[in-house]
Amino acid sequence: MKKRVIIIGAGIAGISSAIELVQNDIEVIVLERRAFPGGRMYSIWDNESGEYIDNGQHLMAGAYVNFFRILKTLGTYNLIEFQKSLIVPFIDLEGNSTVLDSNVFPGKMGILYGFMKFSGVCYKSKIKSISLIRNMLNDKIEIEGMTVDSLLSLNKIPGDIIDRFWKPFCLAVMNLKINDASAQILSNVLKKLFQSKNNSSLAFSNVPLLKLISPITDWLSNKNSNIYYNSTVKQLQIDDNQIAVITDKNEIIIADAIISALPYFAFQKILPEKYREYLFFKTLNEYKNSSIISIYLWLDKEISNANFTGMLGTKTQWIFNRRLICHDDEKNDRKYPGHITLTISGANDIIDENPEMLAKECFNEVKTAFKSDAKLLSWKVIKEKRATFISNPLMDAQRLSQQTPIANLFIAGDWTSTGLPATLEGAAYSGVLAAEYAMNYLNEK
Ligand SMILES: Cc1cc2nc3c(=O)[nH]c(=O)nc-3n(C[C@H](O)[C@H](O)[C@H](O)COP(=O)(O)OP(=O)(O)OC[C@H]3O[C@@H](n4cnc5c(N)ncnc54)[C@H](O)[C@@H]3O)c2cc1C
Repeated sequence: MKKRVIIIGAGIAGISSAIELVQNDIEVIVLERRAFPGGRMYSIWDNESGEYIDNGQHLMAGAYVNFFRILKTLGTYNLIEFQKSLIVPFIDLEGNSTVLDSNVFPGKMGILYGFMKFSGVCYKSKIKSISLIRNMLNDKIEIEGMTVDSLLSLNKIPGDIIDRFWKPFCLAVMNLKINDASAQILSNVLKKLFQSKNNSSLAFSNVPLLKLISPITDWLSNKNSNIYYNSTVKQLQIDDNQIAVITDKNEIIIADAIISALPYFAFQKILPEKYREYLFFKTLNEYKNSSIISIYLWLDKEISNANFTGMLGTKTQWIFNRRLICHDDEKNDRKYPGHITLTISGANDIIDENPEMLAKECFNEVKTAFKSDAKLLSWKVIKEKRATFISNPLMDAQRLSQQTPIANLFIAGDWTSTGLPATLEGAAYSGVLAAEYAMNYLNEK
């Protein structure tokens, strides 16, 4: 008889585990609280504008091998559009623009020398940053236990390049300010990006994010497995030899093993009281969150012809041109000609600001930078208080393994131990690791 694994949560981590297990001939039951898959990577229909908006613009990179493996399996990889090579344009409030361009030199090293065209920073700053990155890539410096901030000051990196490169890069990659972010995790990301030019190229979804992942429902049912939506797990039931879940409908579902692919705070809730006292699970109390604010603006005209631009010295960090990025062919009769998304990462200190004020303030920044007279016709602000966990040096040593002290219980999620920040790739990789541990357990049973 086929072994059966229950996966709790149909976010990217849960879907990644499900695919891995089904491809290894294991029956899977996925239980998802909401009516759709994707977790934090989801889209909602906005009635006012008559179009889908995402739960925040999601940026990907060529290095997302585990995440793209999911899309390839589901037949949606062709909906991702890649840059030919890494090029990141920036603009400030005075309208001064600059670009991080990996094409300055050919090959892998081009990425490193991408700084050379970067204006607004002195030559010394560029050389010092290139040297620091080289040392990080070659493990030539001690970074364990350091924040990015302390790493930069120890290496005497000048303030101009910290403001114009390191801070925006850290926010984009880790959703954290440099004084919080783990230098080790940032270094791991750099190593992945620098493996090849393709790895460092950025990528966007051409369609609302939900469309990338929604084929999972049919894919699983065609393989004798299933996702049940609107199914919340209330509690795990762990006995000596048997593990089960209790759902909100008071069903008890037994399995050979369970993978919880929930955020850490949701996992903590379903864990029976007695296990919360285990040293391993007590670490769940150490996790903290970092917020992201996404501001969707609809305009009477387009504001720029770049599909994205970093903003320097402003509250707004990134502007994404949704009309260029997300050309969902089903909808050509747009109500509003221009549509942009603004992103503010590491936003804990401004998360409670009034949404309308935020939308208007950030729109003014964009108008000023691009010297545009565009008019704001509609707006929507999405605040994700618990967007990602805080990956600081303290957490490096404490992130929980996908294998738990309970033999038939495994955990996945962007917060588990992957060596990566909380991203789609981190979530997908955690799902693969949890599935591998579960399969080892089932094989030995
Ligand atoms: C605004 C925003 C912008 C982001 N931008 C980027 C980006 O540009 N690039 C990038 O790589 N990453 C980005 N991320 C991070 C990325 O979205 C996450 O790292 C990833 O989606 C996490 O996936 P996960 O499967 O670990 O968790 P989740 O997506 O949180 O999945 C958990 C699932 O469990 C379900 N669930 C919860 N409780 C229960 C229960 N009791 N029973 C059953 N089901 C339950 C939830 O409904 C959810 O579907 C962003 C995140 C946010 C919020």
